Amino acid sequence: MAAEPAKYLYDMSEGSAQMRTILGGKGANLAEMKRLGIPVPDGFTVSTAACVDTMAAHGQWPAGLWEDVQDALARLEERTGRTLGGERPLLLSVRSGAVFSMPGMMDTILNLGIGDETVEALAAEADNARFAWDSYRRFLQMYGDVVEGVPPHAYEDELTALKARRGVDQDTDLTTEDLQELVATFKDVSRRELGRDLPIDPREQLRGAIDAVFRSWDTPRARVYRRANDIPDDLGTAVNVMQMVFGNRGETSATGVCFTRNPSTGAHELYGEFLVNAQGEDVVAGIRTPRPLAEMEEVLPEAYAQLVQTMRDLEAHYKDMQDIEFTVEDGTLYLLQTRNGKRTAAAALKVARDMVDEGVLTREEALQRVEPGQLDQLLHPAIDPDHGRTPVTKGLPASPGAAVGELVFDADTAAERGGAGEPVVLVRYETTPDDIHGVIVAQGVLTAHGGMTSHAAVVARGMGKPCVAGASAIRINTAEQTLTIGEHVYREGDLLTLDGSTGDVYGEALELVPPQINEDFQAIVGWADEVRRLGVRANADTGEDAAKARELGAEGIGLCRTEHMFMAADRLPAVRRMILAQDEDARAEALETILPMQQKDFEGIFAAMKGLPVTVRLLDPPLHEFLPNLVEQSLLVQRLELTGGDPQELESARELLGQVKRLHELNPMLGTRGCRLAMLYPEIPEMQARAIVRAALAVREREGETAGVEIMIPLVAYANELATQREVVERVVAEELEAAGEQLDVTVGTMIELPRAAIVADQIAAHADFFSFGTNDLTQTGIGISRDDAEGGFLSAYVSEDVIPANPFESIDRDGVGGLVGIGAERGRSVKPGLKLGVCGEHGGDPASIQLFEELGLDYVSCSPYRVPIARFSAARAVLKGERRADG
Ligand code: PEP
Ligand code: MG
Repeated sequence: MAAEPAKYLYDMSEGSAQMRTILGGKGANLAEMKRLGIPVPDGFTVSTAACVDTMAAHGQWPAGLWEDVQDALARLEERTGRTLGGERPLLLSVRSGAVFSMPGMMDTILNLGIGDETVEALAAEADNARFAWDSYRRFLQMYGDVVEGVPPHAYEDELTALKARRGVDQDTDLTTEDLQELVATFKDVSRRELGRDLPIDPREQLRGAIDAVFRSWDTPRARVYRRANDIPDDLGTAVNVMQMVFGNRGETSATGVCFTRNPSTGAHELYGEFLVNAQGEDVVAGIRTPRPLAEMEEVLPEAYAQLVQTMRDLEAHYKDMQDIEFTVEDGTLYLLQTRNGKRTAAAALKVARDMVDEGVLTREEALQRVEPGQLDQLLHPAIDPDHGRTPVTKGLPASPGAAVGELVFDADTAAERGGAGEPVVLVRYETTPDDIHGVIVAQGVLTAHGGMTSHAAVVARGMGKPCVAGASAIRINTAEQTLTIGEHVYREGDLLTLDGSTGDVYGEALELVPPQINEDFQAIVGWADEVRRLGVRANADTGEDAAKARELGAEGIGLCRTEHMFMAADRLPAVRRMILAQDEDARAEALETILPMQQKDFEGIFAAMKGLPVTVRLLDPPLHEFLPNLVEQSLLVQRLELTGGDPQELESARELLGQVKRLHELNPMLGTRGCRLAMLYPEIPEMQARAIVRAALAVREREGETAGVEIMIPLVAYANELATQREVVERVVAEELEAAGEQLDVTVGTMIELPRAAIVADQIAAHADFFSFGTNDLTQTGIGISRDDAEGGFLSAYVSEDVIPANPFESIDRDGVGGLVGIGAERGRSVKPGLKLGVCGEHGGDPASIQLFEELGLDYVSCSPYRVPIARFSAARAVLKGERRADG
């Protein structure tokens, strides 16, 4: 069936709020107000379809569009009893209006239809020549600037010069004669800048103005805004053409903007500004200082009372805070626009909560009024939104929140100065587990390399610490201790501000505002808990993080990574002895040393999580991570050889170098990691299982209750790997429990983080009590992109050039990696219907990914502690979205 040809023109009376897609937000709301009997100036809307078809034809208007515009104009002339360019002149405003409000779009054109003759008619009709000439000069300026591209300062300079000549400050102090002179000057300016006159035929002007709105859809600033806000490029914008009403007609006229609630705080109070005897842009342009709305009651009492009532009506009708533009012409109120008001995160939460209390919204509706990103903002310190500064560079928004501190280049200095209470920002090419002590005390971390799942990013998110990663334009010279950004060289002690929520970096200290986990926040996340189906756990590796996670509402630990339990300075020597051991006895001795330390770590976590499940993942990283760097060790041996130092030292350095070489892998991420390591050295999982059981029993003994122990095997590809590891773990658990004469439920499951594991999930499930999808590695191996390298390179280009919709390490690749998760879940449950399924990759805290996990029917997501509230909230939104889809 052929689609109906798109309709290009709508009289205002034909539309409604439901017609946003075709009329744009502004057009739809104007039509809705007209329907409700609220006074709006009459007019018509050129639909988004007209813009889309014009863009598709490279700027050529589709056949019939101009005729449609002229017909709509004729109808408007008929209704108003006025004509464009006629003796009883009709003057028009032309405004863009996209489906989603977009600050990058074309500015408004007012007073279209005014010319050398109509200006006189207007003056006579209003009995006010000054008003008419003021309107004329404004039109010339707006049309020249907005439609023809004359630089606005060309007009402003002339206006300023004239005021100087007349010795006046305000535009309103200029006389009719001054304005007449200005009109002549503005015509000269346009001629000079364009090499021709502005068109004088008002119909041609109308066509030019509509066309300028279409073109403004594709300006670079509009495109940038759309990209930043995920607005599709092919929506197009509508154009609203309305009869002018004049706020500049004297002391009984005014124009203003208002919000039905305070958009900064959300407080239910009158909020707005107005200016007497002024036209729209005067209020925002800051030329004259607008007055608080409350004062309008004295100046224009009737219009004020009507405005206040209309504000109430509109808010009740839209069930949301409205942002309104109005004009009063000779005491009569007109509304020019209403839309849902933009608001700060804190205000969004307060308005949503208050509207539930007022009985305007249901809790479910309120949940849909808040964006996950707004909760995120409130969880962390943020840069004061009024800072007005420009960032010096940008990286990936790797861990949200803002940090201010003095620049330091190494973890030791960070640890020393940060430990002494000084605010420092740690700047590294990339971080490694060796830097942890510096990261812990730094206010924030900035890296030149690495992506959203790089070490720095994962660790910082876990700690709730701001991090900007992969800021590839910065140059770090560690020898000279300098950081170069563009031309500027920063040294240790210089101040930096990081915004981990946007990736922006500022070369100065900016004001921060503290986190705001207030009652509104708690209430809204609490409502989410009533709605959501998915469980929410946290990824935490220490008792402290676990306690934080619990405080933020985590229902367990979905991933306890145990690698840091091997990396800490007091353990590394024993870990190296274990790796380098020549025989089993030597290895057993080393592991014996590590065991009690691990047990202590587990006790901390189990105690913090008593009564809740804790999934402990056995050792995952490749062995070489515990050994010195190959290049550094080679250099050490060389130096010792050259200086002829202590032969024993040389000997052991050579031996270590040999081991490092033996264990060196070109692709360690695809090498001897995860359970592969445990298959080669079963003593490691044995030791870990022992430490886990002993810790669980010790906590129960001490506190009367312990955590639910779940042991997880990493990087399984073959069912046999899991079967073997399970045997090891079960044997040790049995031994430990028997020796202690105790009982303890321990379940054993696996990560699903390799494509093969997802495909053979039915075979693997036979040996698993649960699956946890490791979507970081599943993304790395499923798409075949290195999580350590790609984000600094082609991946950002792919995202900015729309080859892919988003960074797949941040938000799950729905079709590919998401498909693998779906296959794994389905095949796993095909042999074990009740198999518990979770996600513990970074996607567990990403709202869009959570939507997919809800659709796939997983049991829980697990994310860094500070994302837990967002995950709780997003899980509820996913349910509501599913219900909406099912309804309609
Ligand atoms: C994963 O791969 O998704 C995961 C959680 O493990 P890691 O990030 O530690 O490799
Ligand atoms: Mg992994």
